[in-house]
Amino acid sequence: MPRPDLLGRLAVQTAERAQAQLHRRLRTITKTDGPWLESDGRRLLAFCNNDYLGLAQDPRLVAALKQAADADGVGSGSAHLICGHRREHAMLEEALAEWTGRERALLFSTGYMANLGVMQALLQRGELCVQDKLNHACLLDGAQLAGATLKRYPHAEVDAAIRQLQRNAEGCALLATDGVFSMDGDIAPLRELSSLCANEGATLMVDDAHGLGVLGESGAGSVSESGLHERDVPVLMATLGKALGCSGAFVAGSAALIDGLTQFARTYVYTTALPPALAAAALRAVAIARDESWRRDKLGQLIRRFRRGAAELGLPLMPSRTAIQPLLLGDAQRALDAARALEAQGLLVVAIRPPTVPQGQARLRVTLSATHEETHVDRLLEALASLRLMDAPV
Ligand code: PMP
Repeated sequence: MPRPDLLGRLAVQTAERAQAQLHRRLRTITKTDGPWLESDGRRLLAFCNNDYLGLAQDPRLVAALKQAADADGVGSGSAHLICGHRREHAMLEEALAEWTGRERALLFSTGYMANLGVMQALLQRGELCVQDKLNHACLLDGAQLAGATLKRYPHAEVDAAIRQLQRNAEGCALLATDGVFSMDGDIAPLRELSSLCANEGATLMVDDAHGLGVLGESGAGSVSESGLHERDVPVLMATLGKALGCSGAFVAGSAALIDGLTQFARTYVYTTALPPALAAAALRAVAIARDESWRRDKLGQLIRRFRRGAAELGLPLMPSRTAIQPLLLGDAQRALDAARALEAQGLLVVAIRPPTVPQGQARLRVTLSATHEETHVDRLLEALASLRLMDAPV
């Protein structure tokens, strides 16, 4: 029997996805200016990026990046442990540890790699990893890569998480959750999860990619906002590519955790370090995110304005108080049609469909940023009203 053709099979899967209207389109952006972007020759007002504090184009970050690139060049040249760890990396790690109230922090090139690395370094084959069903894909992939026994509990249901831990009471256990859920925008029940972990002897890991910079005093994130510390959440991960407007990620925790990850996290050891200039820009971003609380205040006002307006229109809001404000439309085609209709009116809002979200839970994922103005939110609400989304059932 001839072997099946791998590329042929992939082509069939791609065609099937297109047929099911689940194909994702890659858009080329030719220009950005605050919340505006230019694509296919059209200027669009975007409500889809994760630049929550509006730092991605801040001239102070650009200047820090340029200055460091002038001094150090572009690429780091190697992995950290070979010859890649520069002063900029060390300074950024210190600033991130201090901000999040942890002993130390360790940089990773992306959030995806940070989560893979942590799981693989902490968990041995067959050990228990309990996760919220709506955790980001890289937490799930990390547990699988580690060969852990992955048990997923229904979204935010602490009782179900307790049952998973009690049913598997032997051996080490890691409970991992998003701090802010990336497609729903709600916040994990962190206090309950942390007492659960304390009672059951499990270690709690929080991925705060969407909470850092946005929540908590001086933006230290969802864990800090919940009044929790390193002893409650020993493994804290967050990214530099969202509210901090850069790219990359870090894990913060005890010196012992960071020493261990430095030795054993393969996605740290075997990959090129972040460009030092990017670390310099992120260092500037941390200072701005901490100090300029007006950005969080403005974002909060925009979120409240959007939710008030959407509720008045009877739009299917979800229970979120963060910058991620999805409108649950249910059917994938309906979400796609809505996104297309908004784009025709000059607004870019992304339709999120399965497999990114569960079947029947397609949505428009509206994200707000401190670069938006009230008039932008009003324009989005007017456009949404014109789609009459409230008339059809979810
Ligand atoms: N965790 C969460 C919750 C995320 O939303 C994302 C990115 N969308 C990641 C991790 C991955 O981070 P990065 O984009 O830096 O790989």
